[in-house]
Amino acid sequence: MRVTADREICVGAGLCALTAPEVFDQDDDGVVTVLAAEPAEEDGAAAREAGALCPSGAVRVVG
Ligand code: SF4
Repeated sequence: MRVTADREICVGAGLCALTAPEVFDQDDDGVVTVLAAEPAEEDGAAAREAGALCPSGAVRVVG
């Protein structure tokens, strides 16, 4: 699994960091940062859920 987040279109809603805190964080401006581009197996479901919840479509989960 690979995770990316487009910081250009992130609106800082924070759902990703709340849903998958091992995978996503937010910088001081609230913009998403990816902590784990290749998440551990046990974080996979949360990463997918974050991708589904992200209101801006910034989060992409592949694989
Ligand atoms: S859920 Fe989407 S819009 Fe919200 S902080 Fe994460 S990447 Fe940005």
